[in-house]
Amino acid sequence: MSHIKDIGDDFLSLFLPRLCLACRAHLVRGEEVLCMECLLSMARTDFHLKRDNMLEQAFWGRCRIERAAAFSIYNRGSRIRRLIHSLKYDGRKDIGVMLGQMYGYTLAGSGFMDDIDIIVPVPLSSGRQRERGYNQSALIAEGLSASTRVPFRNDILIRTGRSESQTRRGRYERWENVEGLFAVRDPSAIRGKHILIADDVITTGSTMEACVDAVSQTGDIKVSVVALATAQKLTL
Ligand SMILES: [Zn+2]
Repeated sequence: MSHIKDIGDDFLSLFLPRLCLACRAHLVRGEEVLCMECLLSMARTDFHLKRDNMLEQAFWGRCRIERAAAFSIYNRGSRIRRLIHSLKYDGRKDIGVMLGQMYGYTLAGSGFMDDIDIIVPVPLSSGRQRERGYNQSALIAEGLSASTRVPFRNDILIRTGRSESQTRRGRYERWENVEGLFAVRDPSAIRGKHILIADDVITTGSTMEACVDAVSQTGDIKVSVVALATAQKLTL
């Protein structure tokens, strides 16, 4: 049946051309979201290959993590920033799954995923999830899970309240703002395990720190963190 679907896709693409989200070139079969050229030219951090990388250092003295990695750098005008914007605000759910899956192959190939037991996305507030209809971090976790074969669970880490926008706050206020915002629903599901918490972007690290704190309350647990992008200079 797959060739019939292919014919259908090709027929449909006569009317709705599939374009690369970054350069608007026509996508060929096998390409999703981005053309191969744009995909290959995206700036990569390679943090998964570097112990004590910049992102890991950002959490030193704040919370205990085993490893941290991010696919790309989140700069003004950077390709990953445009992609994440479309993922969050244009309903492009396919971007989250595709980039998560692609990054998962990279991570698995390097051994980064080796002793990870469960992938857990950073939860959205219920209000925002209702507005958007989906949690972009859960889509990324789904993609990571597909390529690494590590299961993901989006019912373990939950948001307990609604936080205000963090953009105009200082670090201390931000931390105060997210502290106690997350909780673990089923501690027995993660006790004794190595959890990988996944988000779309890590900028201040305060949301991720609060998630790590919440999960660590369980005890007898290891935590690592991953994101599609991180700020060049983490504003700590
Ligand atoms: Zn392109």
